[in-house]
Parts: sequence; structure tokens; C-alpha cells
Amino acid sequence: MTETAFCYCCRVHHDKTQMRLFPTRQGYRWRCLRSIEAAASSRRERDAFGQQQSKINRQAARQAAELGRQLRQLQPFSP
Ligand SMILES: [Zn+2]
Repeated sequence: MTETAFCYCCRVHHDKTQMRLFPTRQGYRWRCLRSIEAAASSRRERDAFGQQQSKINRQAARQAAELGRQLRQLQPFSP
């Protein structure tokens, strides 16, 4: 008979060999490796997305500043 533990993440019992004690706000809880890995990889993707997004934001800000500068140069004496 295989030992199982209740996974607080999936809310089902898994084989205990697939489980690790995971630190939570309530203390250590059993959680399966699959959910830990899924959370870790989704966090990496989020971080990568955030970095990409802030790079895009920086580029957009630079382009907007450049465009504003060009517009001022095109209309130097506009009221
Ligand atoms: Zn699980």
C-alpha cells in the first residue's frame, strides 16, 4: 500500500513520493512536485513577460520623447 498525503494545492491526495513539504503562511504543508514546478515555471514566465513589457514601455517612452522633440523641431515658431 502506498502512502499518500493531501496536497493543499490540488486538494487531492497524491503518492507521498511525489510530495514535498512546502512552506506556506500557515506553516509547512504537503504539496506535490508537479504543482511546485508549475508555479515556479509560471513565475519565470511572468518575470520574463514583465521584463519584456518594461522594455517595451521604455522603448515607447523613448519613442514618444523622440517624436515630441522632432515635432518641436518641425514647428519651432508655432504658437
Ligand atoms: Zn498536487
